[in-house]
Amino acid sequence: MTESEIQSKLRETFIQKMKEKECFLCWMLAHDEFSVLAHVQYEIGRLEKPLIDEVVQAGGFCNHHFHELLRLSNPPYLARFLQRLAEDVIHHKTRFLGLRRADCPLCNSLRKKETEYIAYFHNLFLSDTHFHEKYCDKGSLCLPHLAKVLKSDLPQEEKEKLLNHQMNIIKNIQENLRNLSRKSYYQAEKDEKEAPRQMTLLIVGRYGAEQ
Ligand SMILES: [Zn+2]
Ligand SMILES: [Zn+2]
Repeated sequence: MTESEIQSKLRETFIQKMKEKECFLCWMLAHDEFSVLAHVQYEIGRLEKPLIDEVVQAGGFCNHHFHELLRLSNPPYLARFLQRLAEDVIHHKTRFLGLRRADCPLCNSLRKKETEYIAYFHNLFLSDTHFHEKYCDKGSLCLPHLAKVLKSDLPQEEKEKLLNHQMNIIKNIQENLRNLSRKSYYQAEKDEKEAPRQMTLLIVGRYGAEQ
């Protein structure tokens, strides 16, 4: 795929996810996380350098990604890598004690993608009128991603538009939460039943998202 084909596919996905009232940056990253995990499980199973050296140096992965690999990997593949890690722990004895896993290779790769997506969103929002209108009609970002977008150099007026738009979405969810809190679950409407999940995703982003 050429660069412009990738970009138009990305634009389509962003618009598609807006219809589902979901933070599309979260959605893209969750999708990427799965493919990155699949790739990493293959590479660590084959003990491919330089990835293995990088991972061992970092002391493995962050808590979330280590558990995801444990859940998703083929155990003999994972065992090859863990055996190598155990060797390093035994050799260095104290290096791993209290090691802060700030350099998780999976987090690093997702962070890079996130920066690219935010820059792309920024450009679309400013220069693509159709995209801009769609976003102001149905788009939504979780608050951690909204904070990152607002840190970019968008014009002040556009930042205020994004912020006010998000507050209107929250008011809507708040109304559904208020109604739900007064009812039994079985009496609640569909939007009301979805409201706790929507509010949670909006506040912290998707499950396991690094912030
Ligand atoms: Zn998000
Ligand atoms: Zn990680």
